[in-house]
Amino acid sequence: MQVSLTAPNSVQYLQPTGLFINNEFVASKSGQTLSTIDPATEKEITTVHAAGADDIDIAVAAARSALKHPSWRKLPGTARGKLMLRLADLIEENANILATIETWDNGKPYQQAVAFDIRAAADAFRYYAGWADKVQGSVIETTPEKLAYTIREPVGVCGQIIPWNFPLVMAAWKLGPALACGNTVVLKPAEQTPLSALYLATLIKQAGFPPGVVNVVNGLGRVAGATIASHLGVDKIAFTGSTQTAREIMKLAAINLKSVTLEAGGKSPLLVFPDADFDSAVTWAHIGVMYNQGQVCTATSRILVHEDIYDKFVESFKQKVATVSTLGDPFKDVTFQGPQVTKAQFDRVLSYIEAGKSEGATLIHGGTAYKDFNGKGFFVEPTIFTNVTDDMKVYREEVFGPFAVVSSFKSEEEAVRRANDSVFGLGASVFTKDVKRAHRVAADIEAGMVWINSSNDSDFRIPFGGVKQSGIGRELGEAGLEAYTNIKAVHVNLQ
Ligand code: ADP
Repeated sequence: MQVSLTAPNSVQYLQPTGLFINNEFVASKSGQTLSTIDPATEKEITTVHAAGADDIDIAVAAARSALKHPSWRKLPGTARGKLMLRLADLIEENANILATIETWDNGKPYQQAVAFDIRAAADAFRYYAGWADKVQGSVIETTPEKLAYTIREPVGVCGQIIPWNFPLVMAAWKLGPALACGNTVVLKPAEQTPLSALYLATLIKQAGFPPGVVNVVNGLGRVAGATIASHLGVDKIAFTGSTQTAREIMKLAAINLKSVTLEAGGKSPLLVFPDADFDSAVTWAHIGVMYNQGQVCTATSRILVHEDIYDKFVESFKQKVATVSTLGDPFKDVTFQGPQVTKAQFDRVLSYIEAGKSEGATLIHGGTAYKDFNGKGFFVEPTIFTNVTDDMKVYREEVFGPFAVVSSFKSEEEAVRRANDSVFGLGASVFTKDVKRAHRVAADIEAGMVWINSSNDSDFRIPFGGVKQSGIGRELGEAGLEAYTNIKAVHVNLQ
C-alpha cells in the first residue's frame, strides 16, 4: 500500500495511498482511484484510493465503534490533550515533508507552506489540546429542593469535509476541536489535494491515537462527500468549501437532522478611507487578495477606495502587485505566487477575466495565463480591474483567484452600504486612522470578521466564520468548541 515518491526538491519519503481506517491504510472496496496532478508541471504525482459508499460505511462504523471503545471514551481530557500535543510536535518535526507535499499537490509557494500552513496546523492542534481538559459543564442554581447541572458530551461521529486551498490547515482546524471534545471523525480531503491528509494520518497513528478515532477517506465530493453528509451513522457535519456545495450538504444532512457548521464563499470588501496609512493599505490590499494565488475564502477581493485617493491608490496597488507578486516555481524562495490548483480553477479565473472585459471594466494589470516557468502549469497573472460597477459579475461573484476589482466611493455611508451589498458576509477590512470611524464601520459591516488596518489576519485563538451565505457557525477559539459538544441537563430531586 505504499509507493515511493521523489518530491521535486529531492526530499524522499514514503507516501501512503490507501484509505486510513482503524489506523490502517486499506484499499478501497470499489477499487476506484483518484489521480492527483502537480499544478506547476501538469504531471501526475500519484493516484490514491477513492472511497465509495461501502468504504464510507466501514469508516463510519470504525468511528462509531471507537466512540464506544473505552480506550477513547474513558480517556480523560488531559490524556486526549497529550495525544494532540504529541501530534502538534510531530507536525513540526515533519514540517519539511508536509510543506513539500502541500506545495507539490496544491501549488502554493513552499516558503508560505512552511511559514503559514504547517505553523497554523501545529498551532491549532496545540491550542485545542489545551482545551481538552477544560470543556466543562456547570451547576445551575434553582431551588433548595433541586440540584441541576450540565454535562458537555461529545456529539459523536463527525463527518468533516475539507477544501483544497489549505488542505492541512483545514484538517487541523476541524480535527482540533472535534478531538478535544472527545468525538471521533471521518475526514474527507478534497479530491484535488488528497496527499497531505494521508501523511497527517501516519502522524496521527504515530502520536498514539486509538484506531478508528480519526479516519481519512479520500474520494469524490459527489460520492464520498455526499455519502458522509447523508449517512445515518454520522452525527455532525463540518464543511468548508463553496456556497453551492454548502447548500447541497445542508440538504443531505437534513436526513437525520445532523448539526452542521459550514464555512463557505465570500467576496470580502476592503475599504480605504482618505486618512488611512496609505502604504500600509496598499501592502495589505495586495496580500489580502493575492496570497495563496487568491484561493482564500476570506480574500478581500472587492477594494473600495475613497475618491480623493483613488487614482494614487490604483497606481500604487498596481506597482505593488507588479513588483511583489513574483510568479513561477513554487519551490523557489523568491516566488510569491504559484499556479492555480487545477485546470478547472485556471479556466474559471480566465473566464472571469473575459467577463470583466466584456462587461466593460478596465483591465489595468495581468489578465492572461502565464507560461514562462516551464511552458506548462496553471499559472494566471495577478489581475486587477478598475472602473467596475456594482452590477458586474466580477464585482458580485467569488472568483477564487489572483483577481481584484477596485472601485471608488464618496462617503462613509456609501462605502458601508456598498460593502454590505453582497450575498456574502465573511471578512471585511477597514483602513483608517480615525479610531471612531474604524469601530463605527466595524460595527456596521455585515461580516463574521473585520480587520482594522490589516487583512486576512487569522489567529487560532479568535473565532473564524461568516454570516449571510458565507456560512453557519464558527471555527477556532473557544467558539470553535461549541459545535462539538451536546449539553446534557441533569435534574436531581433533593426532596
Ligand atoms: P470547489 O468547487 O472549489 O471544488 P467544493 O465546495 O465543491 O469546492 O468542495 C469542497 C469539498 O466539498 C471537497 O472536499 C469536495 O469533495 C466536497 N464536495 C463537493 N461536492 C460535494 C457534495 N455534493 N457532497 C459532499 N461533499 C462535496
